Amino acid sequence: MKIAEQVLHDVFGYSAFRPGQEEIITLLTSGQNVLAVMPTGAGKSICYQIPAVMGDRLTIIVSPLLALMDDQVAALRTNGVDVACIHSGLAREQNIDEWQRVKSGAKLIYLSPERLMTERMLTALAALRPAMFVVDEAHCISKWGASFRPDYEQLSRLPDLFPGSVIAAFTATADKATRNDIAAKLFRGRGQIIVHGFDRPNLRLTVANKASWKSQLMGFLEDKAGQAGIVYCLSRKFTDEVAVYLKEQGLNAIPYHAGQTAEQRKINQDRFMSEDAVVMTATIAFGMGIDKPDIRYVCHLNLPGSMEAYYQEIGRAGRDGAPAETLLLHSLGDMGLRRQFIANEGDEAHRRREHHRLDALLAYCEAAECRRVALLAYFDEASGPCGNCDNCLSPPIVTDGTVRAQALLSTIRETGQVFGAGHVIDILRGVESEKVLERRHHNLATFATGKQWPKEEWAVFVRQLVAAGFLSINIQKYGGLELSERGRTLLAGEVSFAYREGGKPRLERKAAKKRADQPVVPGDVSLLSQLKKLRLGLARARNVPAYVVFPDSTLFELARERPTTLDGMSGINGIGPKKLKEFGPTFLRAIAEAGL
Ligand code: ADP
Ligand code: ZN
Repeated sequence: MKIAEQVLHDVFGYSAFRPGQEEIITLLTSGQNVLAVMPTGAGKSICYQIPAVMGDRLTIIVSPLLALMDDQVAALRTNGVDVACIHSGLAREQNIDEWQRVKSGAKLIYLSPERLMTERMLTALAALRPAMFVVDEAHCISKWGASFRPDYEQLSRLPDLFPGSVIAAFTATADKATRNDIAAKLFRGRGQIIVHGFDRPNLRLTVANKASWKSQLMGFLEDKAGQAGIVYCLSRKFTDEVAVYLKEQGLNAIPYHAGQTAEQRKINQDRFMSEDAVVMTATIAFGMGIDKPDIRYVCHLNLPGSMEAYYQEIGRAGRDGAPAETLLLHSLGDMGLRRQFIANEGDEAHRRREHHRLDALLAYCEAAECRRVALLAYFDEASGPCGNCDNCLSPPIVTDGTVRAQALLSTIRETGQVFGAGHVIDILRGVESEKVLERRHHNLATFATGKQWPKEEWAVFVRQLVAAGFLSINIQKYGGLELSERGRTLLAGEVSFAYREGGKPRLERKAAKKRADQPVVPGDVSLLSQLKKLRLGLARARNVPAYVVFPDSTLFELARERPTTLDGMSGINGIGPKKLKEFGPTFLRAIAEAGL
């Protein structure tokens, strides 16, 4: 067995590396700088913890999130790894004790960026000739990213200050521009960028135009009785409204949003975690740190803010690897709303970036090819058609819409590029509304030339033109449609436009049914809840999060395998020697008692 694998086994109790982990460890141990982009939950920590444990000099881990840092430290200590941690959330004496740990041989130290970048700390560290600096949440260093932190910018001094140290950067969210920026700042471009593990093949991806959210949502939920899921909504008010509606339909629905008191949110979250088959209707306030493996579906009733947000939100489903479904409903109204949000934030450059981000999501929504290919391409991971998305399962009909688009574009141009989609569609459909007559728009050459398409289909058509960049929505001018440069070339006949047909929501329920019916909770359910209780007690006594004792997957395996000896228990994934000694006997007893 190779050394890294040995450490994985002996310290962390895992039997095999996940995709990407070994490659990153090999690069780091051979002295190369690495920027690893891996989604949340993919297992980034092990990628630097193993090289740190294997080496003989100090590794410094910088993280912006104090609570996460504490959890990581607790998890390492539970596995018997000597580690120090200094940040401003700790008392002065405590920080002095922690530094003492480094002095007496701890090979890992977690530091907050502002603690690291003091001249005193830098000098003290230089004397120790650190082997490696790990920058967690590395996207915070880049102004291109969505969560720039000024105290992170300082970290770009590291390659100059410590030319002899390896730099490893980790992030779950970084588009291409952000990645290159991180690599430039942290290792002056000398290093490898590795993107891994974004594919979640068990998630079914479906996107549909929003026609009537109630019937579309109920159609989606039809075969999901007895399962837990999340329905994301944009506003607090709508979140409450959807919960009420679902309750009327006989579902166990609970709302969750930032308008509730902290206490109420906690109660609702606990219910979601502990009760069976809860539908959580929620704003994006819900989800951070949700460690529920058996969420079977995620539905977006409104457009998310970006591809990153969408990916993160659907990623909360199916963590256990069993099939899970996602549905995203989008509409022109949502798109306009999102644009409006962006219009009110940051500086010009920031707004332009955010608009581009949103464009990428819209293009994904309108994509006619495999959704997964489109999604992974956004994260720069190559893949083939998946067979588990709406476009793979029932390929859309693509039609040439050049002439139809030209009629629309010319109507927009002739009316001064100030009207929203509703009015323009009225003109094309020959509706003699007050607004049309008042402005004499019934005299336009294109008036009533698009009668054959119902209003909804026109709305979808317009959206596709916007998504493809032929039209833009002017937020400053109350959502007026304008021709883009590309739109003008389409009007001039220099390019063509193909669109996907069918304004009607597509809900192919049948194919989905089979897979969703499979039992999802592995092992013995009542034993599992016993083990969870036990874990909770142990975690509380140690003042650490439950997963630090054992992750859910380990409990699943225990409930399924029901080991009767410590030896048998050591074969379970996630139980290393330290945890075996500390927790093994207690869990063995519980398993034995459950068998009586
Ligand atoms: P990330 O930092 O990428 O969000 P973590 O490093 O916290 O993810 O890992 C997520 C979970 O997966 C943790 O419970 C971790 O112990 C577990 N894990 C990591 N690597 C492996 C592996 N090779 N085998 C089994 N579990 C793993
Ligand atoms: Zn597909």
